Amino acid sequence: MPSGLPSTSPGTLPSTIVILGTGGTIAGAAASTSDNVGYTAAQRPVVDLLAALPQLAGQAIEAEQVAQLDSKDMDAATWQRLARAVARQLARPEVAGVVVTHGTDTLEETAWLLQRVLAPARPVVLVAAMRPATSIAADGPQNLLDAVAVARTPGARGVVAVLAGRVHAAAELRKVHPYRTDAFDSGDAGLLGVVEEGVLRRFRDWPAGEPLGLGVLDRAPADWPWVEIVVSHAAARGDAVRALVAAGVHGLVVAATGNGTVHRELDAALRAAEHSGVTVWRCTRCAQGALVGPNRGPAASMSPWQARLELTLSRLASRGGG
Ligand code: ASP
Repeated sequence: MPSGLPSTSPGTLPSTIVILGTGGTIAGAAASTSDNVGYTAAQRPVVDLLAALPQLAGQAIEAEQVAQLDSKDMDAATWQRLARAVARQLARPEVAGVVVTHGTDTLEETAWLLQRVLAPARPVVLVAAMRPATSIAADGPQNLLDAVAVARTPGARGVVAVLAGRVHAAAELRKVHPYRTDAFDSGDAGLLGVVEEGVLRRFRDWPAGEPLGLGVLDRAPADWPWVEIVVSHAAARGDAVRALVAAGVHGLVVAATGNGTVHRELDAALRAAEHSGVTVWRCTRCAQGALVGPNRGPAASMSPWQARLELTLSRLASRGGG
C-alpha cells in the first residue's frame, strides 16, 4: 500500500488491483481551477490521485509510478518499462487486474502495444482524462474509479481503455476530439461496454489473441526500426519519401485517401522505396472503416499510428535488421 492511501484490511477483498502511473493530464495541474487547457501534464504522483478517492478505501489496491510524462512524449524506453511492469504484476496470482494512468494523446498506441505484446488473460485497463487534476470539474477521478471497477470485474480481459464511462478495446480505440471529455470512439465495432455507477454493462466479446511476448521489446530503443508515416493528399509530392529513404528509414506507413488510393507522385516514390527494400504498408486516412478490396493489407483496419507501431513490432519480432 503506498503512503497516502486509505489502509486496507487484509482479507476484505482477495483480489488486488495494481495502478501503474505514467503521467498525462489525469495527473496534470494548472494554476487555476477554471483552467482546463493551460496546465502542465504529469505533475501529480499516482498515489495522490488514489488518495483523493475515499471510495477506494478498504480495497486491495497497490500503486507504482512507472513514468511521469506527457504522453505526447511517449518513447520506446517508457514502453519497455511499462510492458515489463504490467507483465510482472499480472504474473502475481493475487492481482486481479492492472490499471494504467496515461495521457490521452498516445493512449491508443500504448493500448495497442500492450495488447499485441501481452494479450493478457486478465484486464489491463488504461485510463486518462481530458481535464487536469486541478480542474473544478476534473474527469480523472470518476474515470479512475470506473477503471478500477472494470479491472475488478470477473471475466474482464485484454487491454481496454475507460473514459467518460465508456469501455473501448485496444484495437478500435481512437482519439477523435481534442477537447471534450468524451474524446474517444470505437468506430464501427462499437464499445465493449459502459460503466454505470461502478457496474460494468458488457456489449460484446473482449479482446483476445496470441501475444507476441515481452521478448519482442528486448532490443535497445536506439536499435528499434525506424518507421515513419506519410500522408497522401492533393498536390502530394514524392520528395519527403525520397529523403526518408536516403536517410535510412526502414518502414513507411502511407495514410492513403479513401479506400487506399495514393496520389500518383507519392505512389511512384513509395514504389521506388519498396524496390530499395523499405517495407511500405497502406491504411486509410479516413477516421473510420477499413480498406476493402485489392488495397487490403496488414494495416487495412488500422489507424496510421497503430499501423506504424504494428510494422515496428513486426520488424522487431522478425529480428531482422532495422
Ligand atoms: N498531452 C496530454 C497527454 O497525452 C493530454 C492528455 O492526457 O489529455 O499526456
